Amino acid sequence: MRASQFHLFTLKEAPSDAEVVSQKLMLRAGMIRKAAAGIYSYMPMGLRAIRKVEAIIREEMNRAGAMELVMPLVQPAELWQETGRWDKMGEELLRLKDRHERDFALQPTSEEVVTDIARQELKSYRQLPKNFYQIQTKFRDERRPRFGVMRGREFVMKDAYSFDRSAEAAGRSYDIMYAAYQRIFDRLGLAYRAVAADTGAIGGDRSHEFQVIADTGEDAIVYCPTSAYAANIELAEAVSLLPHRAAPEEGLEKTPTPGRETCAEVADLLDLPLERTVKSLVLAADEVDEAGRPAGATVWLLLVRGDHELNEVKAGKIDGLKAGFRFASETEILEHFGSRPGSLGPIGPRRPVRIVADRTVADMADFVCGANEEGFHYTGVNWGRDLPEPDLVADIRNVVEGDPSPDGRGTLAIQRGIEVGHVFYLGTRYSEAMNATFLDDDGKPKHFEMGCYGIGVTRILGAAIEQNHDARGIIWPVPIAPFEAVVCPVGWSKSPAVREESQRLYDALLAAGVDVMLDDRDERPGVMFADWELIGVPHRITLGERGLKDGIAEYQGRRDGEASKVPVADVAAFVI
Ligand code: ATP
Ligand code: MG
Ligand code: MG
Ligand code: MG
Repeated sequence: MRASQFHLFTLKEAPSDAEVVSQKLMLRAGMIRKAAAGIYSYMPMGLRAIRKVEAIIREEMNRAGAMELVMPLVQPAELWQETGRWDKMGEELLRLKDRHERDFALQPTSEEVVTDIARQELKSYRQLPKNFYQIQTKFRDERRPRFGVMRGREFVMKDAYSFDRSAEAAGRSYDIMYAAYQRIFDRLGLAYRAVAADTGAIGGDRSHEFQVIADTGEDAIVYCPTSAYAANIELAEAVSLLPHRAAPEEGLEKTPTPGRETCAEVADLLDLPLERTVKSLVLAADEVDEAGRPAGATVWLLLVRGDHELNEVKAGKIDGLKAGFRFASETEILEHFGSRPGSLGPIGPRRPVRIVADRTVADMADFVCGANEEGFHYTGVNWGRDLPEPDLVADIRNVVEGDPSPDGRGTLAIQRGIEVGHVFYLGTRYSEAMNATFLDDDGKPKHFEMGCYGIGVTRILGAAIEQNHDARGIIWPVPIAPFEAVVCPVGWSKSPAVREESQRLYDALLAAGVDVMLDDRDERPGVMFADWELIGVPHRITLGERGLKDGIAEYQGRRDGEASKVPVADVAAFVI
């Protein structure tokens, strides 16, 4: 590609509403243009990186035996009503009507449509297992679209869905996807961690997230440096709510919790920065019993220190979001939970509410995991949370309690991460809801065992940049760089020798399969260098008349402090 023919458009400053570095750099490098909140055009420079991410994903999905298809962006409400998600999904599901007043939704994910396909086309166990995937636009009307492509409303996702005969077979499909994800994220050249995750609104009971490690990540990963254990903080929280020894008390039995929120989500809802100091952690409920005790769906509430008025304002905000929602007062919480062993909600049996005083929101992870010098003291009744797998829970306990960790004492560390992929075992949740069956070898109809597997294609770009950048711009991992190398001729229009040698090198690199750019704009070196460093091209070769006289070119890797002089004849080898 020649720069004079390409659409290059860089900015010195990012628009003032850009919040995080990846968003700023993508805008400045001309990779994306904002059309509305969370809705972007992918410009030629950005699209090249997206296509590379897609190509790696597609290759590994195909290698893993999955089959590509494309499902509609606009999906009929009837399918979403069959699973109940038409009502349950809330405002994230963007609904629209056609000219006949029929209801449709823009796909935020595609379990319904793919299950509908399966019930029509997969009739026999002989056709199983099957895994269908698409790389397709998604729309989620996120409450707070932000950070550019990282939390867009319209974005590109790879979503895959597996169909199996039995739970064991579905486990194998899950493992195949898990391994494929490891290959994908290895190939993308990103530092990541696979972590155990809560199963969220989508359901199921086996779930891992692939998290790109970055300080600006929205998720908190709790991990044990001395063992394989790693979990999203949401799961760590869920586990902390397990009954430690006592059976749930009367009146506190497990209830399904539509619209439950996690601590982190509440912090998010309240716009609470993670570094804010927390005065106490209390439970709030959307229903209370006659005695005013929380019942039904519960919500974690972080009370910020010395901020009562603010809390009330924020309570009002949540109220607006959840009809009928009510906060339990601190006194109520204390009365109800403060003294009853084995039945404590947010607080351990020997501990008053104020145990969490002076901790930051981020520190809550330590607290709920009990990773302090006093050991694991946190206990509570599970109030309507879906529990994670029992042995996973045991793992976490063991780590936290230090039983099998090699140093004899489990400590947990916390890292921030960006969720770029998610694998779920769904069981028969969707196939039962939609009565999707196949005939098994005994001639009887059975519900499909399913799994679903997502990757945020466009989010990966943001995550890669959050992890790899410097003051000058983006530093792309080679596999997803919009261009792998750039040839910068100094004096393109004036020097035939420079022109000739640049063209020859460009042709040689192209012939060797390098995705190379020839900067024939006849710009000054400073301008060319600033552009390509901002855009983040991994390899740069500069050719000038003076150097060429001695047969010398300059090579600079994007992470190198300065350029090195290299014989022209050898310079291609730095890139190939
Ligand atoms: P998050 O917790 O960040 O809201 P999610 O758990 O809702 O993500 P999934 O339903 O697991 O997302 O979707 C699969 C993948 O799609 C995610 O792992 C993420 O990489 C990507 N993704 C989800 N929401 C967005 C978004 N708003 N913008 C860009 N990518 C997204
Ligand atoms: Mg989400
Ligand atoms: Mg998530
Ligand atoms: Mg997820």
